[in-house]
Amino acid sequence: MKQEKAVVVFSGGQDSTTCLFWAKERFSEVEAVTFDYGQRHRLEIECAKEIAKELGVKHHILDMSLLSQLAPNALTRNDISVADGENGELPSTFVPGRNLLFMSFAGVLASQVGAKHIVTGVCETDFSGYPDCRDIFIKSLNVTLNLSMDETFVIETPLMWLNKTETWGLADELGALDFVRERTLTCYNGVIADGCGHCASCKLRQKGLETYLSTQKELSNG
Ligand SMILES: [Zn+2]
Repeated sequence: MKQEKAVVVFSGGQDSTTCLFWAKERFSEVEAVTFDYGQRHRLEIECAKEIAKELGVKHHILDMSLLSQLAPNALTRNDISVADGENGELPSTFVPGRNLLFMSFAGVLASQVGAKHIVTGVCETDFSGYPDCRDIFIKSLNVTLNLSMDETFVIETPLMWLNKTETWGLADELGALDFVRERTLTCYNGVIADGCGHCASCKLRQKGLETYLSTQKELSNG
């Protein structure tokens, strides 16, 4: 039997789209929330809108433009390039507190729409150095949200311990591999589907997909 209502934190990328399919299978009612924080690529918001519409999911887009006012970074500004963190530094895509803010607003929305479950695609396995994507942070925030609103939310993190290969596997299990591959945007250069092929995000996505497809091939051959 399907559980109650869920709100999915949704960016239109591979991970959160997989989470949307995951949630649709588990919960009787699913709504999606996208945060508009002045993403460098407006196409991200458009992708999210189209996917939500196609999956028949009610879609909330919340204006979080104050975030780029507080912390201009590589995801919102064209004059800052996307760079991986070196020597223990955080990558230039890091926005301090971003996930804390997004998850808190998702909690407020969940309370408003009567959803008990909040689904997010954060993942500790391919740890990019974002401290607010760690499991311990999510668990801590879950307690805080419940205390702050006197709720009994459950934050669901279906991808927390999966690597990119396993995330593709999950999409496939959900019958959504082609959809996720063709309709989502994860590329830092704003190229939909298989992306530009050379940014860090594309490389991670592509490597995971190739590994997943090759193991499937081996299985079917042998
Ligand atoms: Zn790319």
